[in-house]
Amino acid sequence: MKTIGIIGGMSFESTVEYYKLLNEMVNEKLGGLHSAKILMESYDFDIIAKLQKEGDWQKLGEILASSAKKLETAGADCIVITTNTMHNAADTVQNSVKIPLIHIADAAAYDVMERGFKTLLLIGTKYTMKESFYIAKLAGEYGLKVIVPNSEEMDVIHNIIFDELCVGNIFDKSRDKILEIIEKYKGFGAQCTVLGCTELPNIIKEASIPVINTVYSHCKAVIKEVI
Ligand code: GLU
Repeated sequence: MKTIGIIGGMSFESTVEYYKLLNEMVNEKLGGLHSAKILMESYDFDIIAKLQKEGDWQKLGEILASSAKKLETAGADCIVITTNTMHNAADTVQNSVKIPLIHIADAAAYDVMERGFKTLLLIGTKYTMKESFYIAKLAGEYGLKVIVPNSEEMDVIHNIIFDELCVGNIFDKSRDKILEIIEKYKGFGAQCTVLGCTELPNIIKEASIPVINTVYSHCKAVIKEVI
């Protein structure tokens, strides 16, 4: 079994889910007392979130690349960034190491297509919904039709993620707001919704259309790589 190099803590609320799921998936495959081999660099998320707000993706890329190098030197066989948003720096990270980066959007696209969907609603942070790095992969590389919420709805989802989910607060009224948005875009042709934020599966378990949990998709792709 290979060693997984995690760049995490963005936020810790989702990294903890990765840790659990990766270990459970290894155990399910290998049985006995087997568990995942993991090295991790976990950040103080406040610093990362501030740089995101300032739009300093170059600095963020440098920080993540430096972690990837450390993990490679320590013996990791692949790199896993446990946030959709920070895949905005995926190219910088991949270019800094020889080991492969398992990209979360590849994993999400694989699951969308495997289930036969062609049109999806993408929800996540404003960065993921607005910037091109994520949509370019889903639409450009995989030919999927990507719908995103309008700008007001993006604010609602973004604020729920940063003000509540990243600090472990799960509120029914926030879940209802997100479900309402999903329901609206079902009417516009979305066949499924991609939870393009690794905290969203903590609040959205199901909706009126099938839900693609990117933490689960990503972990599945990682397990394929390491076992
Ligand atoms: N974990 C989130 C994501 O998957 C948001 C936190 C971040 O901005 O990195 O995008």
